[in-house]
Amino acid sequence: MYILLRHKIKNSLGETYGYRKICICSGSTPKLVDFDSTYIIGLRDTDSAVELKQKLTNSKRVCVLGNGGIATELIYELKNIDIIWVIRDKYIASAFVDVGAAEFLMNCSDADRNQDQPAKALRYTTSHVASEIESDIPGCALGPNWHAKLELTGAMAKKNVTIEFETFIKHLSETKPENDQSTDEWSVYVTLNNGKVFGCDFVISATGVCPSVPDIKVKFLLKRIVNLLK
Ligand SMILES: Cc1cc2nc3c(=O)[nH]c(=O)nc-3n(C[C@H](O)[C@H](O)[C@H](O)COP(=O)(O)OP(=O)(O)OC[C@H]3O[C@@H](n4cnc5c(N)ncnc54)[C@H](O)[C@@H]3O)c2cc1C
Repeated sequence: MYILLRHKIKNSLGETYGYRKICICSGSTPKLVDFDSTYIIGLRDTDSAVELKQKLTNSKRVCVLGNGGIATELIYELKNIDIIWVIRDKYIASAFVDVGAAEFLMNCSDADRNQDQPAKALRYTTSHVASEIESDIPGCALGPNWHAKLELTGAMAKKNVTIEFETFIKHLSETKPENDQSTDEWSVYVTLNNGKVFGCDFVISATGVCPSVPDIKVKFLLKRIVNLLK
């Protein structure tokens, strides 16, 4: 059967291939909260998970922003650290459970963790190290059981979670705000919409993702438009 290959794609090695339809599956990048600071990190691939683990080692308090799957899982997985969990909703994990289930989950203590079962599902990792050409290309996102062999442990003796409901970070500063009365010194200070100020070692922004293909998409769309005008 003759297949008409109307379009062409060129890879970074200069090789050209014909195609009829293209499916772009290049994933996404974390949509970090919009403040200019090196103390904000996202979680996405194995590299960022290792970076998180390393940062936690000397940390006493983190601020976790977001109420989706990644934030909720992180709150459960983090150990020996103070956590300020900042969520816009009225209750935790609102994307997955109703208010009653959320209340039940909030009353579950960390003591139950001893009953964690070893994961049976397959885990996929990459052994591949990015080359210079690929250095701007994000790795593939983490999947189920990403934390199975990763101890996310801070520098405190135990874990303590403070949840700030129905609020968001209004301001982020690396110098202590005047209205912060505490004597502790932190790397970064978050001021919430509700007026509260918390110092912490860093902020984990689990606030969604953006598609990681804008350039390809623009060229593709332009070509589609040109074809439509013919
Ligand atoms: C911490 C965390 C936990 C998660 N846990 C779960 C879970 O328990 N269950 C679940 O179902 N989902 C989970 N997810 C979500 C899941 O990982 C994603 O939904 C899924 O990986 C998306 O698949 P994808 O193929 O669209 O993108 P990705 O898996 O991100 O794959 C994109 C691929 O495209 C490549 N790429 C990017 N740009 C280019 C380019 N310009 N040229 C060539 N290649 C490129 C990347 O290197 C990568 O290999 C989790 C995500 C995270 C971050």
